[in-house]
This record gives sequence, structure tokens and C-alpha cells, in this order.
Amino acid sequence: MRLSRYFLPVLKESPKEAEIVSHKLMLRAGMIKQQAAGSYSWLPLGFKVLNKIVKIIEEEQNRSGAVQLLMPTLQSADLWRESGRYDAYGKEMLRIQDRHERDLLYGPTNEEMITDIFRTFVRSYKDLPLNLYHIQWKFRDEVRPRFGTMRSREFLMKDAYSFDLDEAGAKRAFHRMFVAYLRTFYRMGLVGIPMRADTGPIGGDMSYEFHVLADTGESAVFLDSDLLDKPIPAVDTDFNGDLSPIFNDWTSLFAATDEMTDEATFRASVSGNKQMAARGIEVGHIFYFGTKYSEPMGAKVTGPDGKDVIVHMGSYGIGPTRLVPAVIEASHDDNGIIWPVSVAPFEAVLINLKAGDAGTDAACEALYAELNAAGLDTLYDDRDQPAGAKFATADLIGIPYQLILGPRGLKDGQAEIKHRKTGERETLPLGSAVARLKGLIEPQRRDKV
Ligand code: ATP
Ligand code: MG
Repeated sequence: MRLSRYFLPVLKESPKEAEIVSHKLMLRAGMIKQQAAGSYSWLPLGFKVLNKIVKIIEEEQNRSGAVQLLMPTLQSADLWRESGRYDAYGKEMLRIQDRHERDLLYGPTNEEMITDIFRTFVRSYKDLPLNLYHIQWKFRDEVRPRFGTMRSREFLMKDAYSFDLDEAGAKRAFHRMFVAYLRTFYRMGLVGIPMRADTGPIGGDMSYEFHVLADTGESAVFLDSDLLDKPIPAVDTDFNGDLSPIFNDWTSLFAATDEMTDEATFRASVSGNKQMAARGIEVGHIFYFGTKYSEPMGAKVTGPDGKDVIVHMGSYGIGPTRLVPAVIEASHDDNGIIWPVSVAPFEAVLINLKAGDAGTDAACEALYAELNAAGLDTLYDDRDQPAGAKFATADLIGIPYQLILGPRGLKDGQAEIKHRKTGERETLPLGSAVARLKGLIEPQRRDKV
């Protein structure tokens, strides 16, 4: 992509309304624009990152055996009356009427609708297990939308729903998602820590929130520091094996939000040198809720003995539009964002230090073609702007590698590579620059675990 033809409205000043660093940087880097309280347009750079995050989520969901579909944002109130949640949900639900005065709502979640799809088509235990997911906009009229897309009113969610014959089956589904989540966050360059969460009246140990540690996180969390460097499980392509050992291994280490524990329990449970009290951002939540919706809505199958069985369900959420700022909270410095390669809007930026100079332009064009041919997702800063402004923009928008070329380097046949994360610089012959970048970038793509 040539920057001269791109749409990148970066801001010089830090916007006053932004309280936390990710919100400031997303505005400054021209990633989002606020349209109303808790509602944002995703500008091209932000949208590119969001799509990379969505793609990783899709790949890991599909690998775990979940099947993607797409449900509408507007839902009929009658469906929610069946489960009893239409009246129970409260003010977070945006309620709408159409021209026939029929009650609709903008979905804050989709348990009712997916249960309706299930009961319409699925008849036999032979069709189980089943896990269906979609990635769709949600609306929750949050009391305090804040921190940009971290807590917005309109936000994107990946929500998956599992259907099983019994609790044992639901447990297997839960373990599959648990492992998929570990892999998903790892692939985004994050450590997603599973924290024991409230199960409400259902009880048991099948509710986990995944948190990313950051000073600005809204939750107080307590954890065993060994969780921070546990190896991420590699699994066979369709997650068919028994994943309970992985689940047990991870959840044997203490990690809980302050809603679930207190400091006294935490002391007592984790040895002193491994105790970590921190702040966390909730990026995902997996939850088993038994027959809470299937029972009132009549979602059942014929079991092996010919009798009807009410199915057991779980739901599994991830917030892609929250993950974008979560990555930034975890990875930035005073100059701007530092994207992990796997979610970076571009993997490399080619900086032409003297646009308009025929020799430099020609050499940069050749490099740009070579970068594209090598399959590196590259932004080419071909604008007629001072070098300082180009460096500042490249640092601000957080592209992992900068390839820098000007008339002086060209004379010596040399280009420079700057590593955004470490600030390290290397000078190397023009002819080997692209191969060197490829060697740096490819291993960091995390397209496999
Ligand atoms: P929170 O406790 O942060 O309000 P929640 O418990 O209401 O979140 P869930 O219903 O579990 O959230 O939704 C699943 C995921 O959707 C969350 O883990 C989060 O990543 C995302 N999410 C929820 N609410 C928002 C929001 N207002 N803005 C952005 N993402 C959200
Ligand atoms: Mg939650």
C-alpha cells in the first residue's frame, strides 16, 4: 500500500477525551473515529488490525470443530420472552419497535436465537456434539462506555454455543474451547490468562474469564506467576483428543478476579514468591450453563434409548474490538504502538527519505516490488514529507520493521532496517534487505502454535 494513496488521518496532539494509552494511540494513529457515545467507525488502519484479529479467532474456532454461521443483529422480543430474559435483562438492552409496533431488540448476545435455530433443525443425539459460532455486532447500553473500543456500546463479539447430550459431553466441548482460547490469544502476541469466574446457580468449575494483564485493566486479579510462561498446547488439527489433562494442568494454578477470591485465600493458596496481584482486561469468557435456555425453549433431541433429552449448552465469547486496545495496552512505548507481527496492520514500512529524487524513487520502487513479491505486507511511505515526520508516523502506527532508504545510503548501496520494538538498527547491502526482513518477519507470524 502506498501511503500517498492510503487514508491515514494521524493526529499530532493527544486527544483530551482519551484517558488510557490505547485509546489515545488508536485516535492518534487514525484507527478509529468516535460517532456517538460508545460507538466508533473503524478507519482503514484500525479495520486492518481488527480483521487480522478476527481471522485468528476464526482459524482457531474452526480448528476446534466449531462451525461458523451468521445471525442478524436485530432480534424479536418474543424469542426473549420465551427464555424469560426480555424483562430480566434491564436497561443494557436496546429495545426497538418497527412500523407495525412489533417489539425488537438489538442483540446483546445470542443464546435465544441459536437455541431457536437448534430446535428447528436438530432432532437426534447422532447430530451431537455441535458447536455453532458467529462474529457479529452487539449492542449493550453500558452505563459508562469508556476507554474507546475497550468498553463501547456497539462492539464486535465472537460468540460460540455448544450443544451436547449430557454434562460430560458439555465438559469436552468446554475443554476444546478452553484450549482454543489459549491458542487464540497466544497467536495475537498476548498471554490470555484463564481466571476462575462466577458460575452463578449452576455451580461447578466451568466458567473462566480470560484476562490480559495491563495496569489499566478494569479487574483486580490474583494469580500464580507460573501462568505467565506456560507453553501453549499444540493439538491435532481437529482437537479430537482428550483435552482434560491440559485443562486440569492450567486450572491447577491459582488465578481469579477479586470477585471470586480475597487476599487471604490467595496467600494461603500460592507460595509467596509466585504471588502476583495485578490488573486484568477481560478479553474472553467461556461458560457452561446446562439447560438454562434449552429447557424453557424446548431444545431437545432423541437420545440413544428413544427418549427425549434436553440438551446441555455452553457459550463462549471473545471481544475482537476490545482485543485491539488490549494488544496496545500490552505493547507500546512513548513513541506509539508496537504491534506484534501477527496482528500488525502492515509487517513492514518502506521509508523513502527523499521522495521526488529520481534515483531514490527508482530504488524504492524496486524495493517495494521486491517486498510485495516476497509476500511481506508493506506500507510504502512515498509522501513528499520531511524524514522526521515519516519516522514519527512509522513509530506511532507501530509497524514492526522499518526499511529506510535515502540518497546517501543509495550511493553506498546500503539500506537500513529499524526494529520498532527494540530500536535496534542494522545497515545492510540493498540486495539483501528484503531477504533479511523476510527472515525476521516469517517466524513471528504465529500462524501455527
Ligand atoms: P465486562 O465484564 O467487561 O462487562 P461481560 O462479562 O459483560 O464483560 P461477556 O458477556 O462475557 O462480557 O461478553 C464476552 C466478551 O465480549 C467479553 O469477554 C469482552 O471481550 C467482550 N465485551 C463485552 N462487553 C464489551 C463492551 N462493552 N465493549 C467491548 N467488548 C465487550
Ligand atoms: Mg464476562
